[in-house]
Amino acid sequence: MTDSGIDTTVFDLAGTHYDIGVAIARGSLPFVVPSWWPAPPPLAYAQACAGEIAALHPALLDEIHGHADGQHLSYNELIRLICRQRLGGRAAVPPVVPEQGGCISFAWRAPNGHILVGRNYDFYSVQRIRQRIRLRPDGSRPSVGMRGSVPAGRYDGVNDAGLFVCLHVVLADEPKSPRPGVPFHLIPRILLETCRSVKQALDLITIMPHLHSFNYLLADPNGFVAAECHADRLRILYPQGDILAVGNFFRHPDMAVLQRHRQQPVSRRRVAYLESGTWQGSQVWPSVQDTLRDHEAPVCGHDGGHTTLWSAVADLTARRIVYAIGAPCCTPYSEVLWPT
Ligand SMILES: [Zn+2]
Repeated sequence: MTDSGIDTTVFDLAGTHYDIGVAIARGSLPFVVPSWWPAPPPLAYAQACAGEIAALHPALLDEIHGHADGQHLSYNELIRLICRQRLGGRAAVPPVVPEQGGCISFAWRAPNGHILVGRNYDFYSVQRIRQRIRLRPDGSRPSVGMRGSVPAGRYDGVNDAGLFVCLHVVLADEPKSPRPGVPFHLIPRILLETCRSVKQALDLITIMPHLHSFNYLLADPNGFVAAECHADRLRILYPQGDILAVGNFFRHPDMAVLQRHRQQPVSRRRVAYLESGTWQGSQVWPSVQDTLRDHEAPVCGHDGGHTTLWSAVADLTARRIVYAIGAPCCTPYSEVLWPT
């Protein structure tokens, strides 16, 4: 942890999910509910959501138990915070998920045949937890990725089979009927620990009930797609060429209506720039890093909800991943040991 209260702890853990939860809880700042979160849902609703999580990956609930015990919290109170249906609305500062905010990612089938991904995670700089976690959990696939505010979550990461998953919030209408579902930040985690390919991940993400409105980039050494998810419906977005970029808006016509007037102009500029391919250089790996530092679109954000808190580049074919914990224009990328 730094003097600013930003928690960039790096974990490299193996063992049971319960023990992993205890270890991360003890190595982390006390869990404080961010000011922009709304009041949690009733316990019965949270327990119904936990039932949906258990149907997909029951060990995650063990980890949440471990996290609660490691920080002397009530498990029931913790799942109420994790399984909240609404993401914001309690306080005005910072605005929930800002109209202009959010992160960006892209996957590229490069001329050398490799599949690469680039990803900038953006949010307001008040988000304190930015932990890089490499895990080898008993009975689940190893992975490495980033945890944000919420226990047991992953905002992006890659597993031992080369499956990469990351998330992007989308502002959209509230669901018609709020049914229990899986919270957004557990979805990359579930996919990384239980799937070996985009195909398997697609099978799982399309059958699970979604609590929130999010896009997910799914990529592996053979290809990539985006899943556009909302509690009311879900669609798959397939690449039209060698590049697929994913931002904070739905592109499938069946999904776009759920956004109504919300435009997300910065995110649309980023996606258009990345899919234009104009940034591609003769050197595959450096050109992905360079485009994540772009300030024209801008891909690299330094403003409000578009502040890049971390950045990742991976070559899924070569099994190589690097992270920069900060904006990549001013923070060097560091090699991270591939999960095994
Ligand atoms: Zn920058």
